[in-house]
Amino acid sequence: MNFSALERLDQADPLTHLRDEFVIPEDTVYLDGNSLGLMTHGTQARVAETTAQQWGQDGIRSWNEHGWVHLPAKIGDKLAPIIGAQAGQVICCDSISVNLFKTLSAAFAVLDARGEPRNQRHQVLSTADNFPTDLYMVQGLQQLIGAENCELVLADEAELLADLSKHIHAQTAIVMLTEVNFRSGRRLPMAEIIAHAHAAGALVIVDLAHSAGAVPVELDKWQADFAVGCTYKYLNGGPGAPAFVYVAERHLGSVRQPLSGWFGHARPFVFDAQFEATDGIGKMLSGTPSILAMSAVDAALDVFADVTMVQVREKSIGLAELFLELLEQTGLAREFDCISPKTAQQRGSQLSFAHPDAYAICQALIEHKVIADFRAPNYLRVGFTPLYTSFTDIGRAVARLAEIMQTRAYTDPRFQTRQAVT
Ligand SMILES: *Cc1c(COP(=O)(O)O)cnc(C)c1O
Repeated sequence: MNFSALERLDQADPLTHLRDEFVIPEDTVYLDGNSLGLMTHGTQARVAETTAQQWGQDGIRSWNEHGWVHLPAKIGDKLAPIIGAQAGQVICCDSISVNLFKTLSAAFAVLDARGEPRNQRHQVLSTADNFPTDLYMVQGLQQLIGAENCELVLADEAELLADLSKHIHAQTAIVMLTEVNFRSGRRLPMAEIIAHAHAAGALVIVDLAHSAGAVPVELDKWQADFAVGCTYKYLNGGPGAPAFVYVAERHLGSVRQPLSGWFGHARPFVFDAQFEATDGIGKMLSGTPSILAMSAVDAALDVFADVTMVQVREKSIGLAELFLELLEQTGLAREFDCISPKTAQQRGSQLSFAHPDAYAICQALIEHKVIADFRAPNYLRVGFTPLYTSFTDIGRAVARLAEIMQTRAYTDPRFQTRQAVT
């Protein structure tokens, strides 16, 4: 491994200084920002302040004095430029799963307002290997309101891309897709799909779980109708951090969503028995926001203030291409079958490799302080987080992988047992 060449790449990297903003576990190469991003020093300080001073000393007054009540919308506006949205269309709340339920219902409400009979347009199209919770949420809605009103239809991802018109048609109400596939890292051409769906009269919900903070997203330009995403992956908001939801400005007037809790009410503190939705994106809220978690997300987003997503993308591609090149150089590429697209532009910010011993290899890597992850059935996944991953890190990761493969360290029985979270 030519580490001096890698150090030169780090010196030339315009994002290199951002690494100092993060708490990086000692001697560790962290390639799992696609599952749980690392914490910034700013986040750590903010959570400490929120507990010690705000909650600890100022107590309930903090809802006003420290602006707790405005955090969901404030974070939404901070997130908006990262996902190509004008302010006022994004809000931070709940989980992706819950927000999908709300957006699916909201999309049907928009279609109903157009006066289209539901029995003619009731299908929700998604891909068979979408992240399962996305599909489960449609299944739940289908069970609640009946398949005649909401019916999940699954397409094979490659077949869908090969022939959009075959899959998106007059019965398609909603196209619900995840831009970057969590297993393969494949990135879908969302602008093209959205244009196609609109021409067919359908609405589109985009899941940005593996996009937000990783690739440039252009929700407004694409004319997306709705989007959801999480903040604990590439946005480093912390374990279980609240998700976000985007509703295009043009739909905000006609949107209704069924989890109509008091935080989405026009005047929550009047305590009226009758629900009346607030104007704007606030109507996507339901109950009381988790302030400790919201504070963490708010602070975590500060590192994005001085970078463009184009810079992040450029470095992400550089890191992934380097990883592939080093696999070739060390002869590992013969053993690890890359299932991610070969063309960088068709990928998100991760690479996935099929290997029969992927689980054990991943466990051995973790013991050697290279944090990757495993996805069933047999994929080793490495995520690239340009804000804190260096080119030298990639060299260290591949060198450790080469050693594990040469010594067959991964065959040790202790690496074979699966834990609850993989
Ligand atoms: C990570 C991820 C989720 C997680 O959903 P939560 O409800 O926030 O736990 C959903 N969808 C996709 C595509 C994901 O990658």
